[in-house]
Amino acid sequence: MSENLRFACTGCGKCCTGHHVPLTLDEARQWAASGGQVVVLIEAFVVDGPGMPADQREHVLRRSHPVPCGDGEVRVAVTFAAFNPGRCRNLDDNDLCTIYETRPLVCRIYPVEINPHIPLRPENKDCPPEAWEQGPELIHGAQPVDPQLAALVQASRQADRDDIAAKVAICEALGMTCSALKGNGFTAYLPEMAAFATALQQMPVGDGAAWTLHVSDEGLAGALHALGMRTTGETPVYYAFIGF
Ligand code: SF4
Ligand code: SF4
Repeated sequence: MSENLRFACTGCGKCCTGHHVPLTLDEARQWAASGGQVVVLIEAFVVDGPGMPADQREHVLRRSHPVPCGDGEVRVAVTFAAFNPGRCRNLDDNDLCTIYETRPLVCRIYPVEINPHIPLRPENKDCPPEAWEQGPELIHGAQPVDPQLAALVQASRQADRDDIAAKVAICEALGMTCSALKGNGFTAYLPEMAAFATALQQMPVGDGAAWTLHVSDEGLAGALHALGMRTTGETPVYYAFIGF
């Protein structure tokens, strides 16, 4: 890991291609209103049990929400992201962002990491080598040097915490109540956008819907059953299971 990194964006546009961009609730509302597709990614864990990374306890607890599962309870973390399987719909022919002044927080933060437990590694980013050989210092001692950038990272983390109850309620209202286990994968839904936009406007209250965990590993399923959790390993119809 490099503790101190210089950086200057070359404008190559690679980070705007093939990346699902995490959105705050407000940004998801704007994305939907402008005709964009949102993908919903869900992962869950049992507190101090399966799926919970012990070294990230505080972080994952604060950005998750408790839901019933079988006879027990899991906490789910939900990401609403701009669905960008190819070029972002806002990237023009010159590789410039057409909504630059109002682009999502995560677009403003890239290539800096949002998760405090993930160190910034240039080899994990799309930026070309020369981007890391020029420009001012971006990271010093694992922290962003620019206070405005540091504030954006904090704002993104805070939105994760502030939005999670509402995102879970929207998932429940739209029947997106099957989650993967954190560390084992995600479930991914592509909601019908008119219904999704309506739910974002109406802001439903969570209805205590029963959740299910999608696990394809029999040993893991057995461990979860022993804790009273409800699981499924059936081939999904309304979502995709993205395993690790
Ligand atoms: S919104 Fe703009 S900055 Fe963000 S991925 Fe799309 S084109 Fe890139
Ligand atoms: S991949 Fe890196 S260098 Fe290329 S446009 Fe994105 S931030 Fe800039």
